[in-house]
Amino acid sequence: MNPCALFTGSESNTLWLTEFEHQFPQLNIQPWNQVVDFDAVEYGIVWQPSSAYFERFPNLKAVFNLGAGVDAILSNPTVPAHVQIIRIEDGGMAQQMNQYFSYFLLHYYRDMDLYQQQQQQQSHWQVQSVKSPNNFRVGILGLGQLGSQLAIHLQSYGFNIAGWSLSKKHLDGVATYAGDEQLGAFLQRTDALCCLLPLTPVTQDILNHHHLSQLPAGAVVINGARGGHLVAADLLQLLNNGHLRGAVLDAFEQEPLDTKHAFWQHPKILLTPHCAAQSEYDTCVQQIGHKLEAILSNQPVTGLINRHKGY
Ligand code: NDP
Repeated sequence: MNPCALFTGSESNTLWLTEFEHQFPQLNIQPWNQVVDFDAVEYGIVWQPSSAYFERFPNLKAVFNLGAGVDAILSNPTVPAHVQIIRIEDGGMAQQMNQYFSYFLLHYYRDMDLYQQQQQQQSHWQVQSVKSPNNFRVGILGLGQLGSQLAIHLQSYGFNIAGWSLSKKHLDGVATYAGDEQLGAFLQRTDALCCLLPLTPVTQDILNHHHLSQLPAGAVVINGARGGHLVAADLLQLLNNGHLRGAVLDAFEQEPLDTKHAFWQHPKILLTPHCAAQSEYDTCVQQIGHKLEAILSNQPVTGLINRHKGY
């Protein structure tokens, strides 16, 4: 078969290549800078490819994105309009997201932030009363591959779960809201807001003062999606004036986060270095390999990006 050009821009290239060779030795996956016949390349496998990648291969038909989020690739002006983008669907990330959000939701639900304050600031021994989990109202922004599985997973804790998406969803045990017109009602019933939206021109800055101030007083925000969703100054204002109880941030507009950024030292912010969920090599290779084989046999595949919607 014609070469399929791999670009990851890092030493992880070798790990991906080894896994493809292991699972799909019949597929001709080559590092993009070692391909000799540029014109022969019709398919690519990429993570944050440089502009040079798309300029090099004039006959590209489709690229597989090695992650769920395609905001970086769509913001690259050299990606030709006719090139299809196929993203990872779950790829082992849903389970990791479930772990990430569960950990921090339990942190607030069981008042661990208050116990930390009692220990660190006051050496104060005081038991906080435990609320019924049904009174802890979790709201998930985005009910796609990751958000819908999170909504199902969190039910095991007994939390009161709702989710918001563009199109209306039906998920057992989850109160679902859809579209701009229902966002206000969704926010007003949410004590812990979990963001798992894709970053698009519409969802850029969605975690702003207008929306976050509609959360009940004492709510928390957990952003496991992209830094571009959040307006930093608005979050800081709502934390500092006491409207919000805390925030957990995994992704940032600029990464790594500047060492002088106010988020680092803020007592109400917990931050992690964009690690909420990572593509699993074996799972993702299996998914991409099967899809590539399907495409080569003219079979349909899922996970195609709608350029108009931006995800
Ligand atoms: P999906 O595309 O499967 O789901 C996206 C969800 O968001 C859908 O339910 C969609 O609605 C909803 N949505 C999109 N736009 C809007 C809008 N304007 N208004 C309301 N709802 C909207 O994505 P995934 O679940 O696979 O991933 C979500 C994001 O998580 C990724 O794009 C990525 O940025 C982030 N991520 C972060 C990681 C990290 O480590 N921090 C790791 C992996 C992913 P509908 O169902 O109606 O289309």
